[in-house]
Amino acid sequence: MAFPEPLERLIRALEKFPGVGSRSAERMALHVLRSPREEVAELAMALRDARVETTRCEICGNITLRSPCAICTDAERDASVVCVVEGPREVEKMESAGMHHGLYHVLLEGFAPREGATPDPGALAALQRRVASGQVKEVVLATAPDREGEGAALQVVEALAGQPVIITRLARGLPVGARLEYLHGEILADAYQGRRPLDA
Ligand SMILES: [Zn+2]
Repeated sequence: MAFPEPLERLIRALEKFPGVGSRSAERMALHVLRSPREEVAELAMALRDARVETTRCEICGNITLRSPCAICTDAERDASVVCVVEGPREVEKMESAGMHHGLYHVLLEGFAPREGATPDPGALAALQRRVASGQVKEVVLATAPDREGEGAALQVVEALAGQPVIITRLARGLPVGARLEYLHGEILADAYQGRRPLDA
């Protein structure tokens, strides 16, 4: 063993993060050793709190402090339109664009592995149940226009095949490869307004 056991343990733990190889894990671990003890204690608390104090909304799958989340429980919102996004940041982006007054369904990083993200088949099953309940009239696909986003959209379409729901997607004209989270609010609002039924 190259390092004392506690340091080895830290390196092994850090290696599990997406995109972190053994060299980076080693650098991060050595950085921890050089950091003031209070900072390290704060990091440990932040790790714990983020994991323990947040949960996923039982309806939309977004990260929230309380389930169901504030959006799903907002009676002012239109429960018949559900916008499918890849992650919590995309929800933020859609919210700040201000066009979507319906609800969301958060896949959490889609299904094709992107940066080590784990596929979440539970999110698809949950969407199927929401649509099968009959309350949803339109599902708006707002996954990224890149390979992973397209793959996720395709799986959603397949999962909803045969269900009486209109599936639309954000208008093309979104720059290829642009993640929703980086898009300017106005462009996103236009894409939302110009959304089209699939295969139309
Ligand atoms: Zn929710």
